Amino acid sequence: MKPNIKNIAVLTSGGDAPGMNACIRAAVRTGIYNGINMFGVMQGYQGLINNNIIPMGARSVSNIIHLGGTVLKTARCLDFKTEEGMKIAYDNLKANDIDGLVVIGGDGTFTGAQRFSQRYDVNVIGVPGTIDNDLYGSDFTLGYDTAINTVIEAIDKIRDTADSHDRLFFVEVMGRDSGCIALRAAISSGAEAVLLPEKPTSLDELIEQLEIGAATKKSSSIVIVSEGHKAGGAYDIAKKVKERFNHYDTKVTILGHLQRGGSPSSFDRILGSRLGFAAINELLKGNTEQMVGLRGNEIKTTSIDEALTKHTFKLEADLLEMAKVLSI
Ligand code: ADP
Repeated sequence: MKPNIKNIAVLTSGGDAPGMNACIRAAVRTGIYNGINMFGVMQGYQGLINNNIIPMGARSVSNIIHLGGTVLKTARCLDFKTEEGMKIAYDNLKANDIDGLVVIGGDGTFTGAQRFSQRYDVNVIGVPGTIDNDLYGSDFTLGYDTAINTVIEAIDKIRDTADSHDRLFFVEVMGRDSGCIALRAAISSGAEAVLLPEKPTSLDELIEQLEIGAATKKSSSIVIVSEGHKAGGAYDIAKKVKERFNHYDTKVTILGHLQRGGSPSSFDRILGSRLGFAAINELLKGNTEQMVGLRGNEIKTTSIDEALTKHTFKLEADLLEMAKVLSI
C-alpha cells in the first residue's frame, strides 16, 4: 500500500467494451479534481512497454462519454506476460513518476495487473470492462448492458423476416463461457428457446420445445445460441435440428463483433462514470489490487484475487425459469 499518490495513469486492455470512454473520462476528471496529474496509456500494456504514455487534462476527455470503443485504444500484449516486459513497463512508469494505475478490462487484464503489482510498487485498481459479464464481484460489467441492447435490436429485425416467412432462426450471440447476454437477450426479444453454456439443453429438449410451438401455431421461432454452448455453434446445432424438425425454413445468423461496438447505453455511461470515479478514490485512499464493481446499487471493492478466482454463476434461477414459461 502506497499513500500520497500524485500521478495516476489509466489504460484499457483486452477486448473493448462500450462505456470504457465514460470510465476514462470519469477517472481523468476525478483525478484532476483532486489535484492529481493524470496520464493515459495508449494500447493497454503495450503502451506501458512502448512508453506511449500521454498527459491528460479535463478537456482531453471532452465529448467521449457517448462513444463506443476506447479512445486510449486497446491491444493484446504478449510481452507483458514476460518478466522482461513487466520490468520495462515498470521502468517507464517510474520515468514518468507514475505511482497509481487504473486498468479497465477483463480477466486477462486483471491477471496481468495482479502479477505486476505483486512485483513492483505501483498501486493498481481494476475496473471490470467486458461485455461478457463474467467477473466475480460486479453484478454488471461495463459494456454488458449495451451489448444486450445491440443484440435485441438485431433480433427484433430478424423477427420481422422470421415471422413474414415462417422461418426458424438460430442466432448466435457472444459471451465466451457466460450465457448472460444470451439469457437476457432471449427474455427481452421473446425468443422461443435459448441455449446456454451453464445449463446444457439436449437436442431432444430443444426439438420438443419447437414442436410444441409449431403445434400451437407459432408462425416463427427464434433460438438464441450462446457462443460457449457445448453442443457447438449455431450452424452445427441448426443442421442437427433440421434433420429432425422441418416445419420451418431454417436460417442462421452469427451476430459477431457488431455486439462489441456502438454508443454506450445510459446504464453503461453511468456505470463507467461511477467505476472511474471510485477507482481514483480507492487509489487516493492508498488501496491497491482491488477491483471496483457494482453490487446491488452500490459500488464495492473486491480483491483482484477474488475477482479472478471465485467462480461466478450469474444466471438468476428466476430468469431461467421465466424464459421457459414465457416462451410457450
Ligand atoms: P481480457 O482482459 O478482455 O480478458 P486478454 O485475456 O486478452 O483480455 O488479456 C488482456 C491482456 O492482459 C493481454 O494481452 C496481456 O497483455 C495481459 N495479460 C493476460 N494474462 C496475463 C498474464 N498471465 N500475465 C501478464 N499479463 C497478462
